[in-house]
Amino acid sequence: MKNISILGSTGSIGTQTLDVVRQNGDIKVSSLAVNSNIELLYKQILEFEPSLVCVYTEDNARELSERLKNEGIKCEVSFGMEGLIACACMDETDIVVTAFVGMIGIRPTVEAIKAGKDIALANKETLVTAGHLIMPLAKEKNVKILPVDSEHSAIFQCLQGAQGNRPAKILLTASGGPFRGKKKSELADIRPEDALKHPNWSMGRKITIDSSTMVNKGLEVMEAKWLFDMDPDDIEVVIQPQSIIHSMIEFTDGAVIAQMGVPDMKLPIQYALYYPERRERTARRLDFSTISSIVIDKPDNENFPALSLAYEAIKTGGSLPTVYNAVNEIAVDKFLKGSIGYLDITDMIANAMAKHKLIANPSLSEILELENNLKHDLSGFSTR
Ligand code: NDP
Ligand code: MG
Repeated sequence: MKNISILGSTGSIGTQTLDVVRQNGDIKVSSLAVNSNIELLYKQILEFEPSLVCVYTEDNARELSERLKNEGIKCEVSFGMEGLIACACMDETDIVVTAFVGMIGIRPTVEAIKAGKDIALANKETLVTAGHLIMPLAKEKNVKILPVDSEHSAIFQCLQGAQGNRPAKILLTASGGPFRGKKKSELADIRPEDALKHPNWSMGRKITIDSSTMVNKGLEVMEAKWLFDMDPDDIEVVIQPQSIIHSMIEFTDGAVIAQMGVPDMKLPIQYALYYPERRERTARRLDFSTISSIVIDKPDNENFPALSLAYEAIKTGGSLPTVYNAVNEIAVDKFLKGSIGYLDITDMIANAMAKHKLIANPSLSEILELENNLKHDLSGFSTR
């Protein structure tokens, strides 16, 4: 029986991972980690019986620990970064599902790889900022990085038939988000509640905003570079508003292979957990009799500049992807709290990138220090 640890078990990817575990019935959950949602974590402990959990926030961890003790439930409760790392490195764990949101995932992921755990990677911010450290480390430790992000899972699935032939090009699909077709002048007054409505996918708040600004696709271009060792010039973003084609690869002879399906994250999650096996699923299927056309369009880089900024960041490399990602995390948080406007998100990224003094090959501590400095420098910034 496979043992898994889920980092971020109360989030969108985390809960869907537990759905996959529940539906299959032959995976053991050894540890779970969350930020503060102890109500849901408590229910998950009762159902999946992990021996260790981590609640990052110490007060919430103590409260949960008391409750479990009073009710005679055996499960160790840890907290803080040490606790996250302990959850990621448990002896019995085979696969760590990294479903945290943001750069908090970097250290636990690095430690899990050092401990020889395979990684089912949803937490794209980790690869974006530290891909140059993580991919060589995974190779050295003979650890598999199994993509969970639907586009990267699609590419990974397309590559299964490649027989060692390298793709000439990756065609990364994007839905274009809820504001596709709008001009910058129409985007200025977008409110958080407008941006939190995604047409095809139901996801956590941060990635839903990222999808609307096209930052998510920018992060995914960088994620694809590291996962598939591709030159960014050979990664092309195409808009596929129906989210039926989850991505494609083109070979040197011009053949294009696509992976299609209904938008449903449980498929890539299950594929990562059971790779290379394909398990039966009873979920909805694509019904081609109801699809009259498949729409493909070009990204609108003029009104949504986040994608061009991402190419600039990844082509320059070094610490610039960290600036792109960290400033986006700060800006999305501010936008959700109402202290900046919608267009300020991309403007803040562009300004920070323009000002940044590049570190060519940042170490893990330099990446985390840069994130902290940016948080500090931008803490008082607001436009509203
Ligand atoms: P959510 O916001 O829904 O969930 C985030 C999870 O991380 C929660 O369990 C949260 O705990 C936990 N968490 C956040 N901060 C901390 C912390 N400091 N310490 C411990 N746990 C923490 O995010 P998503 O599931 O949407 O996204 C997760 C990752 O997967 C992101 O990187 C995203 O880009 C990627 N992804 C998501 C997809 C989706 O469909 N949702 C699709 C493809 C990729 P708590 O509940 O206690 O706050
Ligand atoms: Mg995606």
